[in-house]
Formats: sequence, structure tokens, C-alpha cells
Amino acid sequence: MSENSQISPKMQQLLDLAAELDDLNHIMALLGWDQQVKMPPGGAEERGMQLAALGRIIHEKFVTDEVGQLIADLEAEVGDLNAETDQARSVKVSKKAYEKQAKVPLALLMETIKTTAMAHEAWVKAKSHSDFSVFQPYLEKIVDLRKQYAELFKPYDHIYDPLLDDFEPGMKTADVKEIFEKLRPQQVELLQQIAEKEPPDDAFIKQPFNEAHQELFGRHVITRFGYDWNRGRLDIAPHPFTTEFGLGDVRITTRYLKEDAGSALFSTMHEAGHAMYGQGVPEKYKRHPLSGSASLAIHESQSRLWENIIGRSKEFWTHFYPSFQMLFPAYLGNVSMMDFYRGINKVEPSFIRVEADEATYNLHIMLRLEIEIGLMEGTMEVGDLPAIWNSRMADYLGVTPPDDARGVLQDIHWSGGMIGYFPTYALGNLASVQLWDKLMADHPNVPDEIAQGKFDTVLGWMREHVHQYGAKYEPQEIMLKATGSKITPEPYMAYLRKKYMEVYDL
Ligand SMILES: [Zn+2]
Repeated sequence: MSENSQISPKMQQLLDLAAELDDLNHIMALLGWDQQVKMPPGGAEERGMQLAALGRIIHEKFVTDEVGQLIADLEAEVGDLNAETDQARSVKVSKKAYEKQAKVPLALLMETIKTTAMAHEAWVKAKSHSDFSVFQPYLEKIVDLRKQYAELFKPYDHIYDPLLDDFEPGMKTADVKEIFEKLRPQQVELLQQIAEKEPPDDAFIKQPFNEAHQELFGRHVITRFGYDWNRGRLDIAPHPFTTEFGLGDVRITTRYLKEDAGSALFSTMHEAGHAMYGQGVPEKYKRHPLSGSASLAIHESQSRLWENIIGRSKEFWTHFYPSFQMLFPAYLGNVSMMDFYRGINKVEPSFIRVEADEATYNLHIMLRLEIEIGLMEGTMEVGDLPAIWNSRMADYLGVTPPDDARGVLQDIHWSGGMIGYFPTYALGNLASVQLWDKLMADHPNVPDEIAQGKFDTVLGWMREHVHQYGAKYEPQEIMLKATGSKITPEPYMAYLRKKYMEVYDL
């Protein structure tokens, strides 16, 4: 008998509630997509109110005594919440979400929303004037509010744990610290080895490439990857992102830089990786408590896999370079495939995280994690951040930002109160290689397939081992199931060493 035929009235209540909340959340996502893709600037104020109104409705529908009681009754009804049935996991996921949201007093929630709205404005201004003092009082307030939030979840092992858990369910600060402490010296050492070598030339890609041709090629590539256009679309936005309004509508955005054809292409592959995860969640989780994904790190493992492991590989360009070259003969006519491959894998320590290459990216993240932990523990003061930032950039990457706009002020996250988000980027990088290695062990022919422009095996494997679970499992559970190991740095370092040995002749 299938699980569906044994749904109790109470379980049906939970499913109905989840379906309605899913609808409301997707309406909110649509408002957000429109805000970034279509909305004229004059709409900003009222759009903010519309989003806040919906957010309040969602909160009020979910955080009620009745829902609390329903979840408690269901917990008794289904028994072991760690059991692997969809019903047990639906109750578990709902219970966790309910307990988290019910703990937060409305006053703290409202103050956080108000503060971050003002902090965003202040951050934009501070960044454009490269003046940290404009942002400092707001960040101090945000750190204070985040501490108050974290303290609601006492007892914890570490005050950063509740923040991290919002983005990476089940992950502990101690785990991330341990991973990063192993990773950092190895990344720094690799970077030093690379720095001693002659860098490859990448000037050919920094030329005024025709935007329409860039778009044509990007669409061609992600179509071959398996992005489903019947359930998606590609638009232009200043900051590329992926969003979903359900299983049947998972959209991506990109931006075309005239002077850098790599930027749009790799960001399109990246977002398509996120979107194919969303499109890969099975029908049975439509408008369901287990719709969505395991975590941000698992999401990022998918985007990084398509962008970097595949999109920057020799096999990929063996197939695609001739057609890419043909689109831009004036710039690439005399550039060989190997020179192109080396160029797009150039390592260059830079100030800006979002422009960082594979060898330096995680170092940008570690610096941020150390600062976030320092702020939450109270061992660092907001006022000292510019100096701390610059001295660690020098230690880890060997570069010192010329101003705070290109230093401590570069990212939007803290202005939105998102402390605990950054580590997921690095964890996603590590997870991408672990999944890739297991895929390789299962299907050693994959590199040959990629060299022929075929990606069915890759996508099929990810569907089977990652996408099909939606939000059913926590990130480390997914990794254990898929690879036999939790997130660990060794495979990623081995991947980097192998790649740069070839690109840089180490
Ligand atoms: Zn991403």
C-alpha cells in the first residue's frame, strides 16, 4: 500500500496548510523576482510594504497555538520523526520550522525588519562613498539583534549555531571551524605555489563581445545541460539569481558584461545548476512540507558543479570551444583551445569575492566566517572591522583592498541581517567535488560524454542522489547517503591540486 492511502485527517490538515503556505511563499518570490527584473524604481517603497504584508500573513497563518497543537498531535501519531517516511519527515521539518519561528517575539522580528531596511540604504550609501562609518551604527544594531535572536535558542554549543542552522540545517559552528582550519593552510600553500609561476594570458576574453551572441551561447549550453525551458526562463538582472514559483516555474537571471564574456557565461551555468535542482524535485513534493531543497550548501554544490567542475573543464571546452570560437572569430580566431582553457582558469588573488577564482574563493569565505564568529562571541568590535578585514586579506590572499568599498563593505549580506550565510558558499564548493568524485566512481565515462556534449548521466545522477529528496533530509544526511561521507575538505583540495598542476605546470 502506498503511503498516500494512509493519510490521517490530521496529516491532511498539515498537508493543506503546507500547500497554502507554499502558494503564499511563491507569490512572495514572484514579487521579489519582479522587483529585481521588471519593476520601475518608483515601485520600491510600496513593493517593500507588499512583501512585508505577505510575510506577516504567512507568519500569522503558521505560528498559532492550533498549528503547534497539530504538530504535537502528529508527532505522537507518526512516532519516530527520524524514520525515513515522507510523513515522519514532513512532521519533523514542520516541527523545526514551527519551534524556530514561535520562539521569536514579534517585536524582535519587526525591529529586525525595520533595522535591516534602513541598514540596506545605509550600506548602499557607505559603499558608494567607501565610508564604513556610515554603515557602522547599523551593523552594530544588527549584530545586537542577531545576538538577541541567537540567545532565544539557548542552550547551544556556540552562539553562532542558531544563525548557521537557519541556512544550513543541522550544521554546527564547531564542524565548520574544523573543516576550515584544515582547508585554510592548504589553500594558502597552493596559492603560494601558483604565485611563483607565470600566469596564463586571459586578455582575449576581456574584449567587447557582442551581447546577443553571449546570450545565444549561454542558452545553448544550459539547454544541453538539461535546463527545462518549459518550466523556466532566463532574464537580465543586475545581480544574477535563481528563484522558483513552484516545480513548474524555476527562473534564472544573468547580466552581460561587454568587456568580459566569461562573466555572463559562467554565471548562467551557475544559476542553471541551481535551477535544475529546483526542477528536479519530484511531483509528489509539489505544495508539500518537503518541497524545496536540503540547504544552501547543497544548492551551491549543484551550481558550482555545473559552473566550475564542468564549465571550466577541458572536456567541456573540447566540445564547445569550436562553436564559441566561431561566434567570436575576431577575438578568438587565433586562440587555441588549450590557451583558452588556461585563460579561463587563471588564478588571481583579488579584492572581490564574487569575482574570485576557484583557488582563492574559499579564503574570502573564511575571513568572513572568522569575523562573524568574532562579532557574535563579542571578541571583535564592529568599529575594528575595516582594519581586521584588510590585515586578513593580506595574510590569506596577499592583497590589501585600496578602500572599504572593495573591502569590508563589498557584500550585501550583513546589511540584510544575514549572518551565518557565507560559510554555505565554501561548504557548497567542497560538497560539489565530493558528489562529482562519487559520480565519477559510478560512471567513469562521464568525461568522455562531456567531451561529446552529453550531460544526461550527470544530471540523472544528481536527480537520483540529491534532487529527488527535496527538503526531506538535512545536508549532511544527503552527503552521507550520496557519497558515504559528510562534508570534508580533502577531495576539494585534491581537485584543485590536480587542476592547477596542469594549468600552471606546478
Ligand atoms: Zn549560487
